[in-house]
Amino acid sequence: MRTKFSNKNFDIVMIMDAILISLACVLVIMAFREVSGSPVRNARATANVLMAATDDFSKDKVLHSGSMDANGMIQFHTRLDEVSKRIGNLGIGASFKVYSDHPNFAGVSDGENEFRKNALAAARNGESTPSEEFVEEADANFIRMAEPLKAFRDCSQCEVLGFSSYKKGDVIGIREITLPVGDASARTIKKLLYAFGLLASALMVYLGLIIPMFRHYRKEQADITVRADSFEKQASTDPLTGLHNRRYFEQALESYLEEFNAVGSQLGLLVLDLDHFKSVNDNHGHDAGDLLLKEISLRLKAITREHDVIARIGGEEFAVLTPYVTEERLLKVAERYREAIQELRVDIGNVILRPTVSIGVATNANGEQHGEDLFTAADRKLYEAKRNGRNRVAA
Ligand code: GH3
Ligand code: MG
Ligand code: MG
Repeated sequence: MRTKFSNKNFDIVMIMDAILISLACVLVIMAFREVSGSPVRNARATANVLMAATDDFSKDKVLHSGSMDANGMIQFHTRLDEVSKRIGNLGIGASFKVYSDHPNFAGVSDGENEFRKNALAAARNGESTPSEEFVEEADANFIRMAEPLKAFRDCSQCEVLGFSSYKKGDVIGIREITLPVGDASARTIKKLLYAFGLLASALMVYLGLIIPMFRHYRKEQADITVRADSFEKQASTDPLTGLHNRRYFEQALESYLEEFNAVGSQLGLLVLDLDHFKSVNDNHGHDAGDLLLKEISLRLKAITREHDVIARIGGEEFAVLTPYVTEERLLKVAERYREAIQELRVDIGNVILRPTVSIGVATNANGEQHGEDLFTAADRKLYEAKRNGRNRVAA
């Protein structure tokens, strides 16, 4: 059984498919990372811009100097409220806070926590990059960023009050911005990418597992069919001549007869027996007999019509089933077989053999129901032909 596509071509296509799917997977992973990272990147960029915009907390151009408890601090409060409100409007969870550990800023400072303490320490150490943390909560993620909050003027009463003193520009706290991360479209794209990844995995499994399994199974089936065909052929073939054997012939005769009787068509049967074949063996040896049998078989097969069934049914006996012939025509067919054998010359080395054959003919004209009956009728005619001198047809 051969498919249009050879197995080799199929393998190449499968390897190419696997490479393409792998490439697609790499692209999907890259896209996934891009999509996963982009909301964080966006939030970080926004936080950076906002950070820069809130840097004016440290500038006395905005918060002009005055006494700590009067104008300066009032302006600080106003400015903080305004910025907090604006940033708070950016989304649920967005906020702007300041944190300071100096008593002067206790009134504006938000509560202390680990992130703020660390961010303030980093700011005091002069670290150039802003402190950052990523906050994961059940329904949303946040990015939190902190930069130094610098004093907008010197502390005039710190020493008097027993507080640690600072000068304008010293780090006295941090500005902290929190922004929500991740939007709906990123989540949708992520789902799509998950789906694509699953699809690609399924394809890989299909190409890598199911197809080879299927091919293996199909090959096994084909092998079994081939073996079965070959057994079947062996069981129905005569090994010496390659013609059908008696078993096959008997089955064919039965089924042909049944079919032809059913529709009232004529079926002809010839039974052939070589004349004095024993003497060939006796005079020239068994091998010469075999050779002659093979040559006769070839000759018989050569003149057999398309729908005829020819078989070797015994040592030097043959039979031919010829459908759709009148009795008159059947006799002509039988004559043709007889003449074909009579004309045959088989060179066995030291001598040329000239075989002849006797043929008995029968038809289902009388409605013979069983192959055996038809066969017996033809066989009887065959003996008549033998009795009457051989190399002839009896009907
Ligand atoms: P008749 O004209 O009466 O048919 O005489 P015959 O000699 O052909 O008939 P008989 O039945 O006496 O002998 C048939 C011979 O065919 C006997 C047997 O040795 C020979 N024979 C049968 N099968 C084979 C075979 O496969 N190979 C060879 N070489 N001889 C075979
Ligand atoms: Mg015989
Ligand atoms: Mg014979």
